[in-house]
Amino acid sequence: MSVRVRFAPSPTGFLHVGGARTALFNWLFARHHGGAMVLRVEDTDVARERPEYREAITKAFEWLGIDFDEGPGKGGPFGPYTQRERIPMYQAKARELLDRELVYPCFCTPKDEDATAQDDEPEQSNAARCQCRYLSAPERAEKSRALQGEVPALRFAVDQSRSYAVDDMVRGHVVYPPGQVEDFIITKQGLQPLYNFAAVIDDHAMEITHVIRGEEHLANTPKQNVLYDAFGWAPPAYAHIPIILNMEGKKLSKRDGATSVADFQRLGYLPEALLNFIALLGWSPGDDREIMSRQDLIAAFDINPKRVQKSGAKFDTEKLAWMNGEYLKKAPLDELVEGTRVILALQPDAATLRTGRAHVAAVCDLLRERAKTLAELVEANRFFFEPGSIVPDPEAVTKRAGTPEAFERLALVRERLEAAQTWDVATLETAIRGLADERAGKAGEYIHPLRVAVTGHAVSPGIFQTLVVLGREVSLLRVAEFLDHREALSA
Ligand code: GLU
Repeated sequence: MSVRVRFAPSPTGFLHVGGARTALFNWLFARHHGGAMVLRVEDTDVARERPEYREAITKAFEWLGIDFDEGPGKGGPFGPYTQRERIPMYQAKARELLDRELVYPCFCTPKDEDATAQDDEPEQSNAARCQCRYLSAPERAEKSRALQGEVPALRFAVDQSRSYAVDDMVRGHVVYPPGQVEDFIITKQGLQPLYNFAAVIDDHAMEITHVIRGEEHLANTPKQNVLYDAFGWAPPAYAHIPIILNMEGKKLSKRDGATSVADFQRLGYLPEALLNFIALLGWSPGDDREIMSRQDLIAAFDINPKRVQKSGAKFDTEKLAWMNGEYLKKAPLDELVEGTRVILALQPDAATLRTGRAHVAAVCDLLRERAKTLAELVEANRFFFEPGSIVPDPEAVTKRAGTPEAFERLALVRERLEAAQTWDVATLETAIRGLADERAGKAGEYIHPLRVAVTGHAVSPGIFQTLVVLGREVSLLRVAEFLDHREALSA
């Protein structure tokens, strides 16, 4: 049987790195085994869903280069692939279980039922409180009448006298002793399906062979198995992958700053770097490789207790930054230009910045060895993108260009730059070093004030490359303005 996996997002938020990691593990597993990757949108929670989330999720996958073989907009033999379009199927199945008396009507308030949606804790306490299973026939009839024809919520009657087990590709044989798997709601009032129920019907209908998902769903799995049993279907193989922790060892959450894929895109991470990094969140190739291309990952990926850890996986932002730096050094220049222009477009003064392709390419080429992320590249080097004047950092001025001597030397540098026949590294370097030699000075004494004038900083990439990338006009303008300004100050 060929492998079929699915990623089943609820479009109630942006694609979080946790979701991206789940999708990536499924995708790598499918690609490694030559199987199919299905996208199924779990959009039954109308109240919390927003269309822009759905779009953002699609965009995030496009950016990461994770593609689906079947799904909304893609088609496939087992569609539709959005749960809202599949509701009649769930309802038919719910009625079937009701007819077979495997579920019972639950009259607890809809508010209590909501709490049972996906979260296990509230459900346990609710199920413990819920006495609907033990209502007599007349009591049931009485309560049903109050609903005026609406179908009550349906709760699955789990056999509380036996234990249940889940076989997991990572965690092995997990046993739930008698009484641990609570009766659970399959449909809310009006036959509205809930997650555990719809997911099982779909995973079966879509012939999913392996369910790979976050550890938080492990406790749902015995309930899902109970449903497979009830329908006489074989359950898929399961793999529950470890939760993602922040640097303090707590569950990674929105409070930890950047956590959505879009956040990392905005911060100038490269998709290949993020992909590589999240692949290693809980999985390892079994050797000490860390930088792995998409192809390396596909070739090495598999799920077993040796490759996937049970304990939480730390989201080490420093490692991500390091990894991104490694990818920045090697990525095709075009990709850097693309990413940098996205970041430039998000700057408040974007309209005035120098964002032309050729200019951005020259800047990226000069800076790629130094930056960890493209956002950092833009932030630390805004002088390359600002069109004309800059305001030099006062500390840099004091340190490198604050004395009358520095000022005089800069005036001489300006003459040489103006006299340069061509504006290239060799010519400019010869001119300035020649000047220092003639005056028996050190090249640095001439270069430091020049650097502060054109970049505003005490440190920068090589000054001659910097001048060339900035161009003659902008460089000379900044030197002139710096001298004028200093003159005005000393007058
Ligand atoms: N919609 C569920 C979620 O986003 C899917 C869980 C599963 O993969 O079964 O958590």
